[in-house]
Amino acid sequence: MYAPPGVKTANDMPVPDTMRAWVLGDPGELKLIDKPVPVPKRAEVLVRIDAVAICATDLEIIWHGPPASIQGGMPFNKNFTPGHEYMGTVAALGPGVDEYRIGQRVTVEIHAGCGQCKRCRAGMYTSCHNYGLNYGDVDKGHRANGFTTDGGFCEYQVNNINTLVAIPDAMSDEEATLVVTAGTAMYGLTELGGLVAGESVVVTGPGPIGLLGVAVAKALGAQPVILTGTRDNRLKIGLELGADHVVNARQEDAVEAVRRLNGGKGVDYVIECSGAPNAVNEAIRMVNRGGKVCLAAFPHEETPVDVAHIVRNNIYLYGIRGEGKSATHRAEAFMAQKRFDATKVHTHTFPLEDLPTAIRYARERIDDAIKVVLKTRGSAAQRVAAE
Ligand SMILES: [Zn+2]
Ligand SMILES: [Zn+2]
Repeated sequence: MYAPPGVKTANDMPVPDTMRAWVLGDPGELKLIDKPVPVPKRAEVLVRIDAVAICATDLEIIWHGPPASIQGGMPFNKNFTPGHEYMGTVAALGPGVDEYRIGQRVTVEIHAGCGQCKRCRAGMYTSCHNYGLNYGDVDKGHRANGFTTDGGFCEYQVNNINTLVAIPDAMSDEEATLVVTAGTAMYGLTELGGLVAGESVVVTGPGPIGLLGVAVAKALGAQPVILTGTRDNRLKIGLELGADHVVNARQEDAVEAVRRLNGGKGVDYVIECSGAPNAVNEAIRMVNRGGKVCLAAFPHEETPVDVAHIVRNNIYLYGIRGEGKSATHRAEAFMAQKRFDATKVHTHTFPLEDLPTAIRYARERIDDAIKVVLKTRGSAAQRVAAE
């Protein structure tokens, strides 16, 4: 049984020595293997993963590699476990940890910065200057689980206590996996100015971040909140999450529609979540003079941008990475208060063993899939009982 030196465990929550874990082989190839259960170091805990959501970025990593970087290079054939949007139960405590207790339910954010660089010191740990430097002689203690270190498509993972968010009993496992997505939307709004009460917001692209961006903007008091996209079923969910107006960009010019819906004026903020080739040029025409645009999606190709329009109109552009400045805690607070129902973006659930099927649903949007969640609880618990 698992009992590494200096690590605290509890009799009522035994941890096995090995676990089932998916690892990335060649591009697009995932294998289910046995791996040793990882060991938490100082300021880290071992989380028993109970549920993990599939993100579009996981698909990027599995088929193309970036933005994952393992040992400074491509993530293929390195025994690397992807997956980053997970939640679970604290199962063991690393040396010195008293902030969390064994048995406590938590959800996690992805990035534990090095804690010592200029950006980490300012709370911008998703922009850590020692990003990915966590191996060999250059180990700076940086972790971005599922990106630069092992992630959540498995039964157990270690997390720095700074990446944990305690969740209430009333929040389901599935909902808890969505906290980090809502946290990314929250971070975008934080970078745009934070308090958006009474200000106008457009969200472009009704993927999970865009849809929860609508919900968070509305919970922060924005008015109106306009969602643009091309799929009516997703726009409908946007309305349910609080959008005042939705625009189907296949049926009308999105820039004109936004200006018309906002009384002939541009809006104060745009959160760009589509990654569409012309999205930046449209976003800078949706905002008013002095408006702010947050870029939360990465397009595949470089695209020309009308810089003169940005300069002439004093428009601010912000790129965001992940869920910095502890935005997950603020997103979780809204969800715990039921200020919006994030579960509206959760569409499908599969057991951990069915990851390839779950990925197919997410990738091909089978049955209008949006957020596909894997449940690990059950398989892990049964295996401990059988040992
Ligand atoms: Zn993600
Ligand atoms: Zn850092």
